[in-house]
Amino acid sequence: MSYRGREVRDLLERLEGKLSRAVLRGPRGSNAHSATRLLEKWQRTCAYCGAKDLPLQIEHIHPRANGGTNRVSNLCLACEKCNTAKGTQDIVTFLKKKPEVLKRIQAQAKTPLKDAAAVNATRWALHERLKATRLPVECGSGGLTKYNRITRGLGKEHWIDAANVGRSTPAVLIIKGVKPLVIKAMGNGRRQMCVPDKYGFPKQHKARKGSYLGYRTGDMVRAITPKGTYQGRIAIRHRPSFHLGKTDVHPKYMRRLHRADGYEYTHERSA
Ligand SMILES: [Zn+2]
Repeated sequence: MSYRGREVRDLLERLEGKLSRAVLRGPRGSNAHSATRLLEKWQRTCAYCGAKDLPLQIEHIHPRANGGTNRVSNLCLACEKCNTAKGTQDIVTFLKKKPEVLKRIQAQAKTPLKDAAAVNATRWALHERLKATRLPVECGSGGLTKYNRITRGLGKEHWIDAANVGRSTPAVLIIKGVKPLVIKAMGNGRRQMCVPDKYGFPKQHKARKGSYLGYRTGDMVRAITPKGTYQGRIAIRHRPSFHLGKTDVHPKYMRRLHRADGYEYTHERSA
């Protein structure tokens, strides 16, 4: 694997770990991520008076002093005026004269963050994490990406889109001969020892050994045999040979190109 590929993979791994932790931590506490989620959920407006475009504070619907929790379902946003007016009163007391507002807030607090809002909040968390790497990070709308791609006369591919993000896209993009490195997360295998059929009867048993002659499931190998040259990803099985393409290859012909690390790396055909 090239140095560049390793760098990208390390970055992806770091992101994966940190992001999943950030998402898990989301509903509790008052870190930046859950604040973003709250802003999305309450559309950046004061829950009590509907004021917009002013600093908002995180409000406990059921006060902390009376046993209210820090969960997102107990939090809303309020402007400073409303927050001060409410103080430590319970929401029912505070909104005694505005039953319809009370009803709306209670209903909105219970609805989970909508999917789109969740994606948005995650996207911003990802942006924050990327910025923390101190690598140059640039954002752009999907519309701008499409505009850039079409005005440069390029086809619709994910990696071409990636090259067209943001205002810094050069006026001319030469993609001829460029081979994108596709990294696919494959996982590190399961611990399941027995595969049942659809009736629950054992159909297949996993090989007792995890490796054979030093080869593991997921290794990328090249085999030069009398019948021809084969290349690909291998899996451990009961027989002392490996399946490569459509042929069985004995390990004596094989040479490992890349040790299994949970990812599959392929070069797409050049544009
Ligand atoms: Zn307000």
